[in-house]
Amino acid sequence: MEDFSPTYCPQCGEASFTNKHGTCYVCSSCQFEYFHNTAAAVAGLLEWQGKILLTRRAKEPFAGRLDLPGGFIDPGESLEQGLSREINEELGIHVTQWRYVASGANQYLYKNVRYNTMDALFVASLDSKPLLALQESEITEAIWVEKHQFDTNELAFASLQRLTKAYLQQ
Ligand SMILES: [Zn+2]
Repeated sequence: MEDFSPTYCPQCGEASFTNKHGTCYVCSSCQFEYFHNTAAAVAGLLEWQGKILLTRRAKEPFAGRLDLPGGFIDPGESLEQGLSREINEELGIHVTQWRYVASGANQYLYKNVRYNTMDALFVASLDSKPLLALQESEITEAIWVEKHQFDTNELAFASLQRLTKAYLQQ
């Protein structure tokens, strides 16, 4: 798996940018420091009449695999706000009543850069079956499955497999 290992300093442009320790990178020419920090991410488990909603990924990583709707948190957003925004973008529905379940560390390889993320899982119970408008650039289909028949190993990310499994076994 590729690591994050830039050579050129983003501030002065010299080829003097190295990993100092952990997530900290430093330029030996201009002393610029950069922290490749863990990114906050969220996933939403939508429940309706004993079923849960799964999406199928359109994009890498894990294109074609099952997933939960969600994504990265934007600057200034709470986890709940970011999740509501992502759900609205991906599924075309408004969901705001979230119940926090648990979080887990994940790694997300995108265009040869490995990002460390912290995935937080939330659940929302829907009163009626929503009419979905899928964001086709992100999702190829959305399916409802019986939650007690779902094999969480079908999910793309190990962190979401663990979190979803723990929730469904409650
Ligand atoms: Zn520099």
